[in-house]
Amino acid sequence: MNKGLLIVMSGPSGVGKGTILAELMDDEELKIAYSVSMTSRKMREGETNGVNYWYVTKEEFQEAVERGELLEWAEFVGNYYGTPVKGVEELRAQGKNVLLEIEIEGCKQVKKKCPDALTIYVIPPNMEELERRIRGRQTEPEDVIEGRLAKARIEMEQINEYSYVVCNETVAEAAEIIRNIILNHMKQA
Ligand code: 5GP
Repeated sequence: MNKGLLIVMSGPSGVGKGTILAELMDDEELKIAYSVSMTSRKMREGETNGVNYWYVTKEEFQEAVERGELLEWAEFVGNYYGTPVKGVEELRAQGKNVLLEIEIEGCKQVKKKCPDALTIYVIPPNMEELERRIRGRQTEPEDVIEGRLAKARIEMEQINEYSYVVCNETVAEAAEIIRNIILNHMKQA
């Protein structure tokens, strides 16, 4: 059996990565296993521990870093986020395509450790649309929204870090494009 792919999917907050991901996960042909990250950010309404993230304190996060338990990690608008290394390689060995939904600094670390990682960046049709989507979520205070928009601008200047850039005009279209990218890489692996 071929080893599964390591897929990095990034994109600014609010671009719709979660919805695209849900479509991809439903597709059994893609054999995607989602890597649940660890974060020090507070749980949002509707989120579940162990499903969306493993929610920990900043101290617990730092301990995990010191113990070398994270494949990559980064600080994002005041909180820590990281990928537990345990599980990623085991799942790949089982032929699963492990998908990390992480930001750009984490992607750079993954590329160093796993140069064969497939990296995809999802962009919004334009910045106004992104702002509308972030504000529409109504889950964050104004300073956090501003911080997330500023991060989005910085990230989008570096999208040449990624092998593929996909515009989320509609979720169905973006998911279909990403689906084809993954299927092509599965054939090559
Ligand atoms: P949110 O707070 O909206 O769930 O996530 C904020 C940002 O953190 C998003 O850009 C998301 O992709 C990123 N992120 C989530 N998990 C990880 C992770 O494990 N590592 C890194 N580097 N970024 C992550």
